[in-house]
Amino acid sequence: MNISVIGAGQMGNGIAHVFAQSGHQVTLIDIAQASLDKGLATISKNLDRQVAKGALTEDQKAETLKHITTSTDMAAGVKSAELVVEAATENVDLKLKIFRDLDMNAPAGCILATNTSSISITRIAAATKRPQQVIGMHFMNPVPVMKLVEVIRGYDTTDAVTKTVVDLSTAIGKVPVTVNDYAGFIANRILMPMINESIEALFQGVGGVAEIDAIMKLGMAHPMGPLQLADFIGLDTCLAILRVLHEGFGNPKYAPCPLLVQMVTAGKLGVKSGEGFYQYTAGSKELVVAPSFSK
Ligand code: NAD
Repeated sequence: MNISVIGAGQMGNGIAHVFAQSGHQVTLIDIAQASLDKGLATISKNLDRQVAKGALTEDQKAETLKHITTSTDMAAGVKSAELVVEAATENVDLKLKIFRDLDMNAPAGCILATNTSSISITRIAAATKRPQQVIGMHFMNPVPVMKLVEVIRGYDTTDAVTKTVVDLSTAIGKVPVTVNDYAGFIANRILMPMINESIEALFQGVGGVAEIDAIMKLGMAHPMGPLQLADFIGLDTCLAILRVLHEGFGNPKYAPCPLLVQMVTAGKLGVKSGEGFYQYTAGSKELVVAPSFSK
């Protein structure tokens, strides 16, 4: 299948990786050449990790990379796509514009999927003249490792389009779970209030970063504490999702904690900026210390 992936960031490069590894022809598209270069380097590094583990041969790695081409020209990059998976920055206006452009440039039969964490699929679909072919395909981070694809049906999404996406997700080794389109779907409707409450507990001084994460790891058997997970997801992405939940349901329980807003304003975005609730050494995901909040 010809698949175009929009956005070569954390999620986009992982999505390109898993499709290419299953033999699909992938065009990875970003506005920034630097993001494409970084995305390809990440794919190569992650494939090396699979080779080191014996999960992949060097030949399969080379074959996977051969299946990926890159472009900064979206119109040209989707010209022969059968499926587009959009994984650009979590911003409603940006996504609406991208989908208007995709609708103009992708072939009539092409399915337009979005990896949005929370933005209404129905709203994104309404920006196109093919809302029945628009669907949510929500991969989890890190994409090559995580099994779940949350498949989200918009108001108009057809059964046939849903089936194609479900079958494709299964064929690339993922486990699709289909849900309906309300703010945050299922994954983030449940995850983000937990993360927000953890930040609120920190903000109120109930516990430090280390204590909050230790309690959730040891007490609830979570593989990673909520504050470390927030760093990993990106604090800007967490804030954007909470704002969508807050606006979508009009319920104050989703209001983002002021500390989260403050940290994003200060550019502390977690792993990707080198500091969030923890500090990260340059280019590494190893956490060093949680300086200002642990007591
Ligand atoms: P990111 O910031 O790592 O990457 C976003 C990329 O989009 C950047 O490379 C940027 O240059 C590119 N971009 C921006 N505008 C563009 C445009 N007009 N055309 C093409 N590319 C453009 O973000 P991310 O964490 O990869 O998130 C991407 C999407 O995936 C968001 O919708 C997010 O909500 C969703 N998501 C994120 C996670 C997560 O854990 N980070 C998990 C699931 C879903």
